[in-house]
Amino acid sequence: MSQNEFSEGDLRNTGMALKHDREWDYELERIVEAVHERDAEKVGLQFPEGLKRRGPKVADDLRELLPENVTVMISGQPCYGACDLDTFLMKRTDVFVHFGHSPMKESEKIIYVPLFSNVEVAPIIEESLEELEGEDVGLVTTAQHMNRFEEMRTLLEERGYEVHTRRGDDRLTHEGQVLGCNYASADIDADQVLYVGGGKFHPLGLAMEHPEKKVVIADPVNNVVSVADTEQFMKQRYASVHKAMDAQKWGVIFCTKIGQGRWETAERIVEENENAYLITMDEVTPDRLRNFDMDAFVNTGCPRITTDDGPRFHKPMLTPGEYEIAVGNEPLEDLSFDTFHGTW
Ligand code: SF4
Repeated sequence: MSQNEFSEGDLRNTGMALKHDREWDYELERIVEAVHERDAEKVGLQFPEGLKRRGPKVADDLRELLPENVTVMISGQPCYGACDLDTFLMKRTDVFVHFGHSPMKESEKIIYVPLFSNVEVAPIIEESLEELEGEDVGLVTTAQHMNRFEEMRTLLEERGYEVHTRRGDDRLTHEGQVLGCNYASADIDADQVLYVGGGKFHPLGLAMEHPEKKVVIADPVNNVVSVADTEQFMKQRYASVHKAMDAQKWGVIFCTKIGQGRWETAERIVEENENAYLITMDEVTPDRLRNFDMDAFVNTGCPRITTDDGPRFHKPMLTPGEYEIAVGNEPLEDLSFDTFHGTW
């Protein structure tokens, strides 16, 4: 699976699939109000991949509501999360609207418009109860299903469960929210966690980050209940690490996207390894790396690119933790999921 298929910004696996072709609330009034308040003349709009095709219509609707001197621009940059703001456009606009993701960091300039899934969660949660053992359960979900978080909690409580939730770190806006790169909200006092959301990527990350917990997946989008099994995933990662063990020349990728930069990590690797080369880029794709004559890469940007798209790169692509294992600084047993903390 590629980042394009399962990333935060892609709505196809989140229950926000456009096949329902429903109308979203783009909160145009809030945007218009902000334009008036700030006497704005330039408005930037950024949509996640799954909603880009709606961009021109939203721009049309906005233009009808705004004074004639206001220019509305749409970002054409790929967008997979609130880590991925179009900073070029942001700098050139007075009001910048980011649709579809919860804020990673608040800023006066940015208006975040969340877009929630409309799928029912109750039936799949009922079904998932068969997999739960004991009364204590942690509850997490993705930003797309956050609008139903209290409903999820109530349902579990009504069935007699003690529901454990917490807000994660600064990278997460809501209590119980997880990101593909951050599972701090599952640091709760329960041996099992119920993940409600689409796809397998988040619960796999969750299970790897919290190996002591059973992770039950209630997927209302694909209508399936399962238990996260990290074995296959671990095998893939071990295989990549093994392939990279003989590497001489390393490409160390520093991602320039605003919320994906881990400069210190990248810098440290390059300082300690004279055969490592720092490569800066925004989108990390196989095509962009193909012409680099490296034996292996280490990606300090979005961990999902490494784990989801890894096999598509012409040379092994590792996370920073996996790199340490491949070069012999850490033992193989220390292989863990790559997570991000903090904002920017
Ligand atoms: S860095 Fe985190 S928030 Fe950004 S696209 Fe990757 S998984 Fe999602």
